[in-house]
Amino acid sequence: MAEESKPNKSGKPNKPNYQIWIVTAIVAVVVGITFFSKSGSAVVISYNRFEQMLLSSDVAKVVLVKNQDVVEVTLKTEALANAKYSKELENRGPMSLPGGPHYKFKIASIDKFINDFDEAVAKMSSDNKIGYEIVERSDFTSMFFNFGFIILMVFLFWMLMRRMTGGGGAGGQLFNIGKSKAALFDADSKVKTTFADVAGLEEAKEEVKEIVDFLKKPEKYTALGGKIPKGALLVGGPGTGKTLLAKAVAGEAEVPFFTLSGSDFVEMFVGVGAARVRDLFKQAKEKAPCIIFIDEIDAIGRSRGRGQMPGSNDERENTLNSLLVEMDGFSTNAGVIILAASNRPDVLDVALLRPGRFDRQISIDKPDIIGREAIFKVHLKPIKLKSDVDSKKLAAQTPGFAGAEIANVCNEAALIAARKNKKKVDMKDFQDAVDRVIGGLEKKNKLISPEEKKVVAYHEAGHAVAGWFLEHADPLVKVSIVPRGAAALGYAQYLPKEQFLYQTEQLIDEMCMALGGRAAEEIVFGKISTGALSDLERITKMAYSIVSVYGMNDKIGNISFHDSKQSDYNFTKPYSETTAQLIDEEVKYMVEKAYERTKKLLTKRREELNILASELLEKEVIFQQDLEELIGKRPFENQTTFEAFANGQSKKKKTGKEKIEKLKTEVKTEVEKEEEAKPASKEG
Ligand code: ADP
Ligand code: ZN
Repeated sequence: MAEESKPNKSGKPNKPNYQIWIVTAIVAVVVGITFFSKSGSAVVISYNRFEQMLLSSDVAKVVLVKNQDVVEVTLKTEALANAKYSKELENRGPMSLPGGPHYKFKIASIDKFINDFDEAVAKMSSDNKIGYEIVERSDFTSMFFNFGFIILMVFLFWMLMRRMTGGGGAGGQLFNIGKSKAALFDADSKVKTTFADVAGLEEAKEEVKEIVDFLKKPEKYTALGGKIPKGALLVGGPGTGKTLLAKAVAGEAEVPFFTLSGSDFVEMFVGVGAARVRDLFKQAKEKAPCIIFIDEIDAIGRSRGRGQMPGSNDERENTLNSLLVEMDGFSTNAGVIILAASNRPDVLDVALLRPGRFDRQISIDKPDIIGREAIFKVHLKPIKLKSDVDSKKLAAQTPGFAGAEIANVCNEAALIAARKNKKKVDMKDFQDAVDRVIGGLEKKNKLISPEEKKVVAYHEAGHAVAGWFLEHADPLVKVSIVPRGAAALGYAQYLPKEQFLYQTEQLIDEMCMALGGRAAEEIVFGKISTGALSDLERITKMAYSIVSVYGMNDKIGNISFHDSKQSDYNFTKPYSETTAQLIDEEVKYMVEKAYERTKKLLTKRREELNILASELLEKEVIFQQDLEELIGKRPFENQTTFEAFANGQSKKKKTGKEKIEKLKTEVKTEVEKEEEAKPASKEG
């Protein structure tokens, strides 16, 4: 999501703050009532002081307020003239009652007071003796406190409602929930992002340039009778720069930019989402030409009747309908262009993708090594760098990173360097930052016994050696056994091939590499550990995909049980019980075979395994170059250097880039999606 600042999130001028007024009013009433209440202004004294007053015969009346455990004391009129009383009574404040009570004190228990009082009175001369009254008082004050409690509850409830209906802005939200919450960047808070800030994404930029053109010179298109598109859908994973690109379009075209997230429409009140959509479009039309950017449009645009229990979410449907109505409603020449972002276009309602709505899809992929270098260059610009920082190397060391993660690495590196009081940021800081972004904070004091450390070292070495000697496995970039984060005791980072079709051998090799950790543990220690959990999870998913999704298994045949239209709540399997059994058997057989193969490989390469593990134990981190020195060159061609990669890419570009694009979206596989979710750290 956009990390840049959003001016005044609610996009509205602040209203007078009602809350403050309400709080003030409540306080004022409490103070006032306490002031006017009968004993409110009496001076508080101790029992001993009272006894002195009593013994000096200054007391006219004693009232015991039973339900409050308070005794009120009224002095004789002649005693009031006495300086020792008049001084302190003067300070009682303007509202004090001249008739008293003048003093009061709290008692621990009524019985004790009566005892003490009787004892004291017994000491007095008979004509001065006084008694006491007992009253029970439900005065205005206590009534108020009961009543006030209710007011307080109502107030708190009101606050809660405000929170739920969006908070953010000023008070009075309850009356504003139908208003759109889009943040607006208009003429004053102009969008300053331009295409220069968006690195890579050349094809996507090419596509949106047309939109910029529409916004700048609509006449050019409408004069010829053409229709300006209403919307475009930016499709890509999180952090790939969708928001950034949308903003850049607004920046280049110099038009206002409304931005909000699909989830902003989803509220607990019926009809709010639809009202917000209408309000948004009303505002936008006033500011036209302009751009509306709806982030995470899947929050409202999920296909109707899908991924939900029947009838569960009419509200979202209403919102979606009103969005469709609004999109159809304004004329194409109104100059409002809607950009929406989603990372799952497949779940979107088909109605959204129809001509006249989001009829253009612009795919934004995770950057390849060249794209990453370009993004690094953008984000390295503001950082003071030492000369050893090389954006090409950084790009090679961050496979699978999206733009947001790269921005994060650059920022972390600067922070790490600052923490060490360095004048400039060097390569080591960047490497630490990469580790940190992948694995979380380094746990310096996480206690790991030497035995455990050894197991982790062999486990990771197992992955590394297996990957090194399996032809189709991704070459390793780095192994680390520095404990990080909550779960990971170590991790290995690979350079995934930037490819979109996998052959069976490749998948099998991947599987063997993932099994390398567990196999190494068994070979070396004769025991296995729980450390392979995430490896096994991946392997199992992969194996099931191979058999039942990609039709790559001989016994099952060229059959896929994957249903791209399938709802998320589908409990019936599209195959018979026999097939289910066969699938399970085949998966089991495949994994077993892969495990045997890995064990055989690692037994043969036991020497290399030992070398790597002991090196890891000593240094904790191993890079690819070290690997070559330690166990020799990889016996296969590998594209890990920047140049080799760049060459390969440009060749590919010449040969039917279009075709590859198409295939990519069509054959995008489940396994790949898995990889994308957690590409860089195939941890073990
Ligand atoms: P998305 O909307 O796709 O989730 P964003 O556009 O919010 O991602 O990207 C988050 C941040 O990542 C941006 O603010 C920017 O700093 C960085 N970023 C992402 N992609 C790029 C890119 N292609 N060039 C430069 N910076 C990028
Ligand atoms: Zn592992």
